[in-house]
Amino acid sequence: MSYNTRIIPTYGLKISKLRKIIVTSALPYANGEIHMGHVLEHIQTDIWIRQMRMSGHEVLGFCADDAHGAPIMMKAEELGVNPEEFISPIKEAHIASLRKFGVTYTNYHSTHSEENKQLSNEVYLAAKAAGYIYKEEIEQCFDQDKQMFLADRYVTGECPKCSALNQYGDGCDSCGVTYSATELVNPKSTLTGSTPTLKISEHVFFNLEKSKNLLKKFLKTAQMQKPIVSKLSEWLDGDLKSWDISRDDPYFGFSIPEENNKYFYVWVDAPIGYLASARNWADKNDANLQSLWGKDSEYEIHHFIGKDITYFHGLFWPALLENSLYKLPDSIHVHGFVTVNGEKMSKSKGNFITADQFAEECDPELLRYFFACKLNSKIEDLDLSFDDLAQKINSDLVGKFSNILSRSAPFIAKNNHKLAPILDESFLAETRAKEGEIYDLFESKNYSKAIKLIMEIADNTNKYINEKEPWKLDQDQAILVSTTATNVFKNLCILLHPVIPSITLKMLSMLNVNAITNTSLSAKLLDTEILEFKPVLSRIEPIDIKKFQNGEEKMDEKSEDFINIEDFMKVDLRVAEVIEASRVEGADKLLSIKLNLGELGEKNVFAGIKSAYEPNQLVGKLVVMVYNLAPRKMKFGNSEGMILAASDSEGGIFVISPDQGAKPGQKIK
Ligand SMILES: [Zn+2]
Repeated sequence: MSYNTRIIPTYGLKISKLRKIIVTSALPYANGEIHMGHVLEHIQTDIWIRQMRMSGHEVLGFCADDAHGAPIMMKAEELGVNPEEFISPIKEAHIASLRKFGVTYTNYHSTHSEENKQLSNEVYLAAKAAGYIYKEEIEQCFDQDKQMFLADRYVTGECPKCSALNQYGDGCDSCGVTYSATELVNPKSTLTGSTPTLKISEHVFFNLEKSKNLLKKFLKTAQMQKPIVSKLSEWLDGDLKSWDISRDDPYFGFSIPEENNKYFYVWVDAPIGYLASARNWADKNDANLQSLWGKDSEYEIHHFIGKDITYFHGLFWPALLENSLYKLPDSIHVHGFVTVNGEKMSKSKGNFITADQFAEECDPELLRYFFACKLNSKIEDLDLSFDDLAQKINSDLVGKFSNILSRSAPFIAKNNHKLAPILDESFLAETRAKEGEIYDLFESKNYSKAIKLIMEIADNTNKYINEKEPWKLDQDQAILVSTTATNVFKNLCILLHPVIPSITLKMLSMLNVNAITNTSLSAKLLDTEILEFKPVLSRIEPIDIKKFQNGEEKMDEKSEDFINIEDFMKVDLRVAEVIEASRVEGADKLLSIKLNLGELGEKNVFAGIKSAYEPNQLVGKLVVMVYNLAPRKMKFGNSEGMILAASDSEGGIFVISPDQGAKPGQKIK
């Protein structure tokens, strides 16, 4: 494809300005398969790309595999291959999985590429020359056995705040607090099980504070959803921490120029991978990166991303680009996560569905329709409910859309498959009244509203057939009604084409339209033959979630998610009465608490609840104590157990109290 190919504006709408647009999806990480979460984003992006092309704009879609970082290095090592050997088949598999869902990019590259290496160096050195880079020593967990510094996810231990066991090095799942891995109590390396030591290393930092003015301007000018702008402003107005952009050897990534054995953190070269994919394509297509992405490029840059990587795209990425030769994004569009039947996707729950698994059970294009019905410009999570999916397909695509042609075709067949030379102009005009609005809704990524309007047209057309009752009319009149309905159907195919491209093409081929560019909304099918109607769509049953759970994973679920009663009874929970509570000098979060446990005597515990309770609020209160927790020696004294409290990332802490009448020392079971 040549880069100045123009696609004929199938919509036939007047567009004031033909735009040049580059679109990207976040780069899938090359350590596993494409799953439903990825699929949502790529479908959202692909619909937009197709839509904008059909409107006559020139659109280039770039993506790549994100192929660097410790997890890939470790996984390759586990499999006994080098990282290059590991990532290469994964990239091919990613492309193949996405293609099943109708998703294709102008170019799909890899961050582990020569183009990306050059561009990463170039962008970094420009930032360095502008004084944005400095070095500082930091202390990190180091695995002596493996001779490597440990990323947060490779250290587990007890939460320094609530003492929960087996917490990762970046934060506690139990109390929601964040900390650095070096603060974990009894830390262990997940790689070797050894106790990490602390080791000092010099790291390279990007001074984000220096980009503050640029970022403030960026938030005002770039097109982003309001809640995203608010969130980014909040971060920007807060303490803008410098960004640690280096990792020590061993690491799978690009070495940092002018440094010894330092590598770019994977999040440096991941977004630069967008540029690298563009350059890779430009080199093959007689174009150049400057004209695509240079500061003065005519192309608009649009990123589609998930909400979890907002910080990287909204702050780090524009800051990285500030001193480079390349322009900042014009638009960042953020979507929520996918849940399955109302639950978060997780391997242990057995609802973690890969793209390939889904494609085995259901025509992937139907998922495109379902996601389009649900996607809007908000950042909400989207539930893939299999009941809803079946219901949408059956009621909309089969019951409304396809039904128009299946009802009209028999009358046309009786007329030697020939459409009438005239049609009901006033009804056709009525169905075309909202085309501009539909186009705008797609463009603003409000797909769900666009689909709603499209289905209204389908609904009205079925009503039109009901009212006209062609089965009661003479041949000429019946053909007129059917020809009118068939022309509306052709337009529905065009409107739905970005969403369900191959289904609509199959439908159009029955009308003897063999390419989407061979027709338009204003074209009329009159006095021409169409083919025999063959059902392209049929009703579907809700997929059984069990189809996605293989036996092995279900066994895991049993061992991971459930404990038996014996396990539970190992925890000796007791009612305790707070008899004294006081602040602890030198501890920000702790209160020292003396507990009365009736016949079991008294115990002292330290609890990280100072932020939520005044000591005198607690005295006299009944609480729940883990009585048989191994005592822990702390700087301030011995903690002989813990008291239970509820909290999560949204709020807390709430100390748990037994109901009135419970007596100190009583066992809780
Ligand atoms: Zn905790």
